[in-house]
Parts: sequence; structure tokens; C-alpha cells
Amino acid sequence: MRSDRRARRSGTGNGLPRNEGETDGVMSENQNLPMFEVENLHASIEDKEILRGVNLTINRGEVHALMGPNGSGKSTLAYIVAGHPSYEVTEGSIRYFGEDILEMSPDERARRGIFLAFQYPTVIPGVSMASFLRMAVTSVRNARVEALPAAAENGGSAQRITPREFRRLMKEKMALLKMDDTFATRYLNEGFSGGEKKRAEILQMALLEPTLAVLDETDSGLDIDALKVVAEGVNALAGPGMGVLLITHYQRLLNFIKPHFVHIMMDGRIVLEGGPELAFELEEKGYEGLKAQLAAA
Ligand code: ADP
Ligand code: MG
Repeated sequence: MRSDRRARRSGTGNGLPRNEGETDGVMSENQNLPMFEVENLHASIEDKEILRGVNLTINRGEVHALMGPNGSGKSTLAYIVAGHPSYEVTEGSIRYFGEDILEMSPDERARRGIFLAFQYPTVIPGVSMASFLRMAVTSVRNARVEALPAAAENGGSAQRITPREFRRLMKEKMALLKMDDTFATRYLNEGFSGGEKKRAEILQMALLEPTLAVLDETDSGLDIDALKVVAEGVNALAGPGMGVLLITHYQRLLNFIKPHFVHIMMDGRIVLEGGPELAFELEEKGYEGLKAQLAAA
């Protein structure tokens, strides 16, 4: 059923011919297409329209901040990128290297290099961080090896990983993120503080080497230490191969990370866009001030 839909859409869906013998793997990444493109996205939950025409393009090497008042639809966008089944996309598209991601399972999205920070928030007693992370990395690496032997040029390693190499890699990334060694042996998210949960996510991101990282900083309960963990992680990891969508309600996170682009969402639409200065303007005027200014214009 799903593959029928995909077959119907591929070929003409993005207006480009499919190459003969092309697979659905990373191989179909076309470097000339935008990496990630949300176009006129409308989405509802329980027949209530939340997103009302979102447009957003992210390329490799770019850090984008998505800001907006509570309830504007920021997390909804993140959930839809992740493939959450409760949301219904009623119009528009999300393309990743030209391919419709709404046709892909959440798992497939992850294997292709889309990382969502809230993807594994659950506590799993009895599973250590190290073994959980090794499973995740193994699965993504295997998919890359099968899809494209030369995936390295697309960012991220495309080699199967041995347990020994995994341990070395984890040590290296933990050192980069200034994490304590004992972290690896703890059970996943069990008794983790807000900051430690963030650390776990950032470590996962470091190991998976995503092409697109979406980090939803849920609006409440993030103390300044947790914000710093996220900021340091993004600053250490973001590079030319990766695009980042950083979702945040508060301007203060942007004191630690300098985004290239800032988008402000209100009532399910992006109503203002600009460079880092927009975040400072927001701090000065507040969402209400910006709203009034928009209404007057
Ligand atoms: P943000 O992350 O910007 O604070 P959300 O995307 O979480 O905003 O929420 C957008 C809107 O969707 C809010 O009005 C919220 O009440 C509504 N919403 C979110 N989840 C549900 C749900 N499960 N059922 C009904 N409405 C929901
Ligand atoms: Mg939210």
C-alpha cells in the first residue's frame, strides 16, 4: 500500500525523472536540490487546523532557529517531521533531497539521516546508554552501507561499526562533549536530570552524524545548564555537512548559539524571517510587540 503510493508519486512527484536503477536509499540524494524543504504545509490534529501554510528551507551547514509563542505550532512541525501518526497533513509537502518524507516510515527517516532530539525520551531500565547507542548507530550505519558505499561524501560515515570501534567513537564524542565516562554505563534516561537527558540526546546526535537535526526545546523545565548543554553540543557538532532546526520559545538559548536564520511562527504560519538580529528584536519587543507591529503593517 505504502509502496504503491510512493510509486505513484515518484517519477512525477517532484517533477524530476527518476534515474534508472536508482534505489530508495541515500543514493537518491541529489546535491542540487535543497536538503530540506517544507512547502505550504497544512496540518491538523483531531480536525483542528494547526499548521496553516508553513514554508521553510534548510540546507547543509545552516542553523535555523524556529521561535514563536506557546501554541503556535512549533512542536507540531517537529512531530510531523518525525512522522507522528496523530497529525494529518492536509496540504503541502516536506521534501528531503527532493523526496517526499511523508511517504517514509519514521524509521526510514532516521536511517536517511534525519535526527529528532525527542525521539527516544523514554526511560528504559536495564538498557545502558552504551548499548542503546550502539544499536542505534549500528542500524543507521548498516542502512548507509547498504544504500551507498560512498556515503561519506554525503556527511556521516558509511562503514559498519565493530563493538571495539563503537567504544572508541563513543569515547571520542563524549570527550568532545565533555561528558563524564560513567554516563555510558547508566540506564537510559533513568533518573536523568533535565540536563542529563539533553546530554544523552546530544551524544546520540554526535554518534549518528545526522544530515538534518531537529531539536525541539520543549518550552518548560529547561534550566540554564540544560540550555548550555544543547548549545555546546550544537556548536561542537554543527558543520558544513549538517543542517539544524532549533526550536525554541525563549530567546536566551540564542545567547549561546548563533543561528544563521531566525523564523518566527504565529498561529501556524511563519510570519517573520531574518538573521540573528531578529531574535534580539524579539527579546526587546516580545511576541505581543511583534504581533502588534505586524498587524499595523
Ligand atoms: P508550540 O510547540 O508552538 O507551543 P504546539 O505545536 O505544541 O505549539 O501546539 C499547537 C496547537 O496545537 C496548540 O493550540 C495546541 O493546543 C494544539 N494541540 C497540540 N496537540 C494537540 C492534541 N493532541 N489535540 C488537540 N490539540 C492539540
Ligand atoms: Mg512546543
